[in-house]
Amino acid sequence: MTDLLEVRNLAVEFPSRHGTLKALHEVSFSIAAGEVLGVVGESGAGKSLTGAAIIGLLDAPGRISGGQILLNGKRIDNLPDEPMRRIRGREIGAIFQDPLTSLNPLYTVGRQITETIVTHLPLSWSQAQQRAIELLEATGIPAARERINHYPHQFSGGMRQRVVIALALAAEPKLIIADEPTTALDVSIQAQIIDLLKKLCRSQGAAVMLITHDMGVIAETADRVAVMYAGRIAEIGPVADVIQRPQHPYTVGLMGSIPALDAHADRLVQIDGSMPRLNAIPPGCAFHPRCGSVMPRCKLERPELMPAAASQAACWLHEQVHA
Ligand code: SF4
Repeated sequence: MTDLLEVRNLAVEFPSRHGTLKALHEVSFSIAAGEVLGVVGESGAGKSLTGAAIIGLLDAPGRISGGQILLNGKRIDNLPDEPMRRIRGREIGAIFQDPLTSLNPLYTVGRQITETIVTHLPLSWSQAQQRAIELLEATGIPAARERINHYPHQFSGGMRQRVVIALALAAEPKLIIADEPTTALDVSIQAQIIDLLKKLCRSQGAAVMLITHDMGVIAETADRVAVMYAGRIAEIGPVADVIQRPQHPYTVGLMGSIPALDAHADRLVQIDGSMPRLNAIPPGCAFHPRCGSVMPRCKLERPELMPAAASQAACWLHEQVHA
């Protein structure tokens, strides 16, 4: 599979009156066409910030201070606003936790989806409208032909998120960034929405970056998973390996949050303490104050990602000593 998205050594910082806060450090990963990369971690780990940097929607005064973001081999991290806005509509689709941030309450959903299609694809209004109906049908909205004339507030939360998925896919983007797409929904609907997202992206060959704090969602959806901690990737690897054989002590702790893994409860641990604030990231390995395997060097030297079984983990436990 060729890499559709490549993030190289991405750094994001927030200048403040008390100095510059570094929020992301040397974040590197790639996503191939048709692949789902899950990005997990506690809040404040940098997951959403990574997504926002990729789609060019960092909240001011946040800025990219280093690294590169490439889409289809072309840099997009240094583009002016207008070309980036076009890429956001055409090549990158976004799905956020709250569907109302993506939908305009004043227009029917049909008009919003149709407009997106005619803006980006060479279709007439009536062709685009037909496609909007097909998209709504594909997302499981009953009576789509009538429902396109309804306004966002006339849909339930779950149905609204289906509309947002249809809207995000309308211009046939190559990359979808989904940031906690089901967190606001009932548990019973979450699985349906995730399943739908995965199915539609597969059929369009789109790459997906799925940001969530929920390892259960990742387990069901992702091909690979990146675990973030304090603005860095702590572990990245194939989803089955990261879940069944986590290599970073932080990932081992996170696994404690998946009920389905209860069978392995003997090796699950609770993570004491909390994620450090940006202005108080410990030296060495940022996880060391919470780590049950901490060694003296962990407090002084920061580990880079290194091979760890089938994954990569930023942890000194995996250092290969070559004689
Ligand atoms: Fe724990 Fe040290 Fe590994 Fe950090 S580097 S996770 S402190 S063992």
